[in-house]
Order: sequence, then structure tokens, then C-alpha cells
Amino acid sequence: ASQRLAGKTILITGASSGIGRSTALEFARTSPNDLRLVLTARRVDALRDLADQIRNEVGQGVKVLPVKLDVSNADEIRGFVACLPEEWRDIHVLVNNAGLVKGVARAPDIDEQDMDVVFSTNVTGLINMTQAILPIFQGRPGGGQGDIINVGSIAGREAYPGGSIYCASKAAVRSFTDTLRKELIATRIRVIEIDPGQVETEFSLVRFYGDKAKADAVYAGVEPLTPDDIAEAIVFTATRRENVVIADTLIYPNHQA
Ligand code: NDP
Repeated sequence: ASQRLAGKTILITGASSGIGRSTALEFARTSPNDLRLVLTARRVDALRDLADQIRNEVGQGVKVLPVKLDVSNADEIRGFVACLPEEWRDIHVLVNNAGLVKGVARAPDIDEQDMDVVFSTNVTGLINMTQAILPIFQGRPGGGQGDIINVGSIAGREAYPGGSIYCASKAAVRSFTDTLRKELIATRIRVIEIDPGQVETEFSLVRFYGDKAKADAVYAGVEPLTPDDIAEAIVFTATRRENVVIADTLIYPNHQA
């Protein structure tokens, strides 16, 4: 199955930490001989460190291009593909992973700025990235070819008190993904959603504005997934036979059930 990645270019958003970072490593380990990885996020230093780690671990067969990209900035996305060196533009897999959560607030207390940041990153950013890359996929023969893998969340399926902005954003991701899948039916473009439950990343700290004690209290008793658990699922879906679409996957730790 790893042969199916040979010669391909993979673009990952939010590759500087957590699930995106692990996904980059997992793609590299799965196809160490002939792969290109375009790694994007705002923290470009972390992307460069990751590029070094990949080169040290798997060698020169995987080519890595770290690119600074803020998905909440529509202008940056608009110019993104044109700014890539030509040999990096033939993207086959887009992993729309960049996302965040800002605190927990019941409806009357929702902060307008937090709402803007969460929606412009998780929803508008994901849609704009998809719009930017889709023409590359659609330009391939036979109605097009490529994989769009969107990282949603269990929160897009099950709301919780205080989670409204985040839950609504991930429900929007889910709905957009479903719409896109239906629009692209009968093409060779696969549209895939992976919805994680709790995963140990920087994410829960962001959620509680860096208050580790509070984060630990909320998650007490739950043994989270690791980012590698989600990365393995993402790479698995991308390496199936072209006729196989693992369209919609919910992955949560046994303890969270
Ligand atoms: P992390 O906080 O570790 O990683 C989030 C990534 O998103 C970082 O690389 C960050 O990079 C990037 N990012 C955030 N904002 C932007 C932006 N405006 N532009 C570009 N990149 C951005 O968290 P996770 O790995 O956990 O999160 C990855 C995805 O998984 C998110 O979509 C999240 O909603 C989802 N998820 C996470 C769960 C969990 O429990 N951890 C559960 C369910 C879903 P940088 O700051 O460098 O820009």
C-alpha cells in the first residue's frame, strides 16, 4: 500500500505540532523513498525542525518544503499555490488539519474575538484551502484525482455545554465535507473526514489558555490518544486502493466512550 504514495506530493496544514506533525512523520516513514511533503503552519521554525527530523530519520528520499501559512488569512491562501516552486505544485493529498479551540464559554459569554479566530481558522481557513487546491485535483484526467482529508472532531457530532463555538465550527467542517463529497461524486477525488476524540497535544492547553491545572482537572481519568494514533488513520485512508473511500471515521480513546 505504501507504493501508492510513490512520487506523490502531500500538503499538510498545521504541521508544526500535534496531529499534523505526527502525520508528516507517518507519511515520511510509510513512503521513505519517493515523497514530497509541503508542511505549513504559522510557526515556521517548528516546521524547519520537523524537516530536519524527517531527513535524519528517513533520509533524502522524502523531500520537505516548510512554508509559513496562516490559514485564517484569505490573502495568504490565495497566493499560496502560485508561490510554491513549480515542482511542488502537483499536490495529490491535502490534509486540512490546522485548527484550534479558544476556551470554554456558555452562549451569553462567548467572546467575539475568540469566535472570529475559531471560525476563520477551523471553517473559513479549511474551505479556502480546499478551494485553492481543488483546481489542481480537478485538472487531472478523468474528472480529476486527489485526496482531501479534513480533520474534524468528536465535538462536531456531540455538543457539550460551553463548547458552542468549537462544536459549531467542527459541525460546519462536517457539513462542508459531506457537501463536497456529494459534489465530487463520480470523480476520482476522495473526500475524507477523520474525527478524533481527545488527543494529547498542545490543544487542551490552548483550550484553557495555558492553565494546565484546569486542563488536567477536566481530563482527569481519561487516557488520551496520541497524535500518532490519528496520523496512522490518516495515512491508512490515503493509501487505500483508489476505489476505496474511508469517508468518515470517528476515533476516540476507549476511556472516553
Ligand atoms: P495542536 O495545537 O498541537 O496543533 C494545531 C496545529 O494547527 C498547529 O500546528 C498550529 O500551528 C496549527 N494552526 C492553528 N492555527 C493556525 C492558523 N491560523 N494557520 C495555520 N495553522 C494553524 O493541536 P492538535 O494537533 O490537537 O490539532 C489538530 C487538529 O485536530 C485541529 O483541527 C483540532 O481541532 C483537531 N482535534 C484535536 C483534538 C484533540 O483532542 N487534540 C480532538 C479533536 C480534533 P501554528 O500555531 O504554528 O500555526
